[in-house]
Amino acid sequence: MKGLKVVVGHLYPDYLNIYADRGNIAVLERRATWRGIAFEHRTIELGEPVVPGEHDLLYVGGGQDREQALVAADLVEKGDALKESAAGGASILAVCGGYQLLGRSYRGRDGEVLPGVGLFPHETVAGERRMIGDVLLECELEPGGKRLVAGFENHAGRTVLDPGAEALGRVVAGFGNDGESGFEGCRVGRAVGTYLHGPLLPRNPWFADWLLAQALAHRGGAPPALAPLEDDLEAEAQKVSAGRARSRGGRY
Ligand code: GLN
Repeated sequence: MKGLKVVVGHLYPDYLNIYADRGNIAVLERRATWRGIAFEHRTIELGEPVVPGEHDLLYVGGGQDREQALVAADLVEKGDALKESAAGGASILAVCGGYQLLGRSYRGRDGEVLPGVGLFPHETVAGERRMIGDVLLECELEPGGKRLVAGFENHAGRTVLDPGAEALGRVVAGFGNDGESGFEGCRVGRAVGTYLHGPLLPRNPWFADWLLAQALAHRGGAPPALAPLEDDLEAEAQKVSAGRARSRGGRY
């Protein structure tokens, strides 16, 4: 796939990197370069503007309440540019703390309310009990194409999607957005938010490729069909992770 290029904008890598979330970027990079697709990774720090159209994929990792409080105001300042980027067809992956802050607001355990970007139609309030453990989701990002996503969650925040909002997937095992609705994550076009980290993409290569294809489509045309890679190890990792999630017993 010579001539193709993906530019990733990685927001606040020094603040939002819990559970080595930046491993997700490493997966995108390897899967792109194995196919001859050029990959550029740029960081976007506090105070640096997001220029709509510059990035094919924007990535926001997870963080504890403390780190979230340090970046929240800056992220809100970038909000219009982020929404414009998404409206212009850029792909977004936001994990846990980043997922919460791309919604309308996050109220932490101390009662402090952090305003969010409002890119995702949801609100989050921290509860008493942390929701921790392996998770298994059933996703249907393309009509008729049901796929599994396995991951790990650790959050106090309960995220409630607006009526009619699209989730990333249905919870097969684990807590998901709020431990009650049976949904996990949120999707608005090419923007996806999720609680799953740990990191998420190494054990879900099909999802990494979906994101890559969406990012490639940012420069025009339909998402390209990417050549398959040898994913035996990745498939095994997903199987182990899915097995652990199922052994939690029950849905959530
Ligand atoms: N602070 C948030 C919560 O606990 C996010 C945590 C995280 O990113 N792991 O709900």
